[in-house]
Amino acid sequence: MADFGKYKQMVLDTTLKLVDRGLMTATGGNVSVLIDGADMVAVTPSSKDYTQMCADDVCVCDFDRKIIEGEFAPSVETGMHISLYKARPDVSAVVHTHQVYASIFSLIQSPIPALFDEQVVNLGKEVAFVPYGLSGSPDLLKNITAAAANKCCAYILQNHGAIVMATDLDQAARNAMILEKVAQVYYLALTSGHELTPLPQQMADMLVFLLDGKQKAESKRKEKLKQDAGA
Ligand SMILES: [Zn+2]
Repeated sequence: MADFGKYKQMVLDTTLKLVDRGLMTATGGNVSVLIDGADMVAVTPSSKDYTQMCADDVCVCDFDRKIIEGEFAPSVETGMHISLYKARPDVSAVVHTHQVYASIFSLIQSPIPALFDEQVVNLGKEVAFVPYGLSGSPDLLKNITAAAANKCCAYILQNHGAIVMATDLDQAARNAMILEKVAQVYYLALTSGHELTPLPQQMADMLVFLLDGKQKAESKRKEKLKQDAGA
């Protein structure tokens, strides 16, 4: 059997970092990473206090959510993570958070437009608003999969929180932090009563182009891994 140790450790480290930063709570939110070259993920377990979690508590399951390794059930949101891996070949890590400022936009039902260079080059042209679906429900899977067609890397989940993704887990964690900073500044700017300036369109287009290049490189890397595995 493949050695899943490094993937489990990455999921643990990222989860603890995001809990420490207040972007996830002790049991709220979940983290997964794709096992290279396989239709499998290492994902946080369901109903486990993350501050008490060790690497061996992280679950490895396949795309049918069958447990490959680990004694705990995978997060109830694992289906949402898997649907994103299937829909987006550029995505190799997914983080679902309950972060405060992004969650404000989940209540006021508003996307976040392109505002900052750092935002657009990492998260894409906008942070779209995804309509409500119960945790783990087919509705939520359908809604997030439809939204992910925009090739962006962060989404607001109505009355719930946020979900971010990236080509690797470190970048996914950074994306969650960038999203929180952008959501905080945007919220404060909105409440200032002043008119807001959007990022110039020409700059936004160039930054989206840069992100697209990184995404295509990751898709190609994974495609080659599959070809090599089948050769
Ligand atoms: Zn959640």
